[in-house]
Amino acid sequence: MSSLLFRGLLLRSVLSTESNKKYFLCALCVSAVNNSFLLNSYSIVKFIAQIMEESLDRAIFLDRDGVINEDRVDYVKSWEEFRFIKGVRRALKQIHQAGIPVVVISNQSVVGRGIITEADLSVIHSRLLKEVQKSSSRITKVFFCPHHPDAHCRCRKPRIGMLKKAARELGLDLKKCFFVGDNLKDIQAGNRAGCRTVLVQTGQGKESLKKILTGKTRTRPDWVCDDLSAAVPNILAFFKENP
Ligand SMILES: [Mg+2]
Ligand SMILES: [Zn+2]
Repeated sequence: MSSLLFRGLLLRSVLSTESNKKYFLCALCVSAVNNSFLLNSYSIVKFIAQIMEESLDRAIFLDRDGVINEDRVDYVKSWEEFRFIKGVRRALKQIHQAGIPVVVISNQSVVGRGIITEADLSVIHSRLLKEVQKSSSRITKVFFCPHHPDAHCRCRKPRIGMLKKAARELGLDLKKCFFVGDNLKDIQAGNRAGCRTVLVQTGQGKESLKKILTGKTRTRPDWVCDDLSAAVPNILAFFKENP
């Protein structure tokens, strides 16, 4: 009994870090073989395997400007200019409670254009992560492309460099992920990478939808939603139905 209690405590402390999960799983297998709690340990192992599966291969990718915060024609240049779109913090909390990682994928040519430095951008992003944490949720990581559009880099959306990097670093299966964006470049990147895509109507979303409806583009999102807070319950329901 005390051994089980110990394991429970160990489980809670060790599972808090992603990289330790595999190690702990192996340790538990060894312990299962070495003692008489074979059946019990087996069910714990199965449970942990499920957690690993859930937390490692699925994620929701979010574009930043026009999805999380109000877009600005003159770019967001400081934290003072960063305005959360209504309902976003609550939506992020819902995703967090469902155990799904949130990963931001953002074109920030504002750096490549020489308007702000990469250090200025880091300040904005660290404030963003802190603010989100304050409302008991989490953004796992922010990936950004700092390059000028003329640089023709591999990371700037609609290219999929950032998505591939995120998948590699975080152990994600892109086919199981969603990409939520307001610009056609987001939808193109998401589609190319094999994600399910959601076009929101905040930011540049209305113009993007107009281009689709008037035949100016052949790009098609899987879904169109009003905003992030409308998209999230649908995405979470989809995950639930398609484990
Ligand atoms: Mg955007
Ligand atoms: Zn780039």
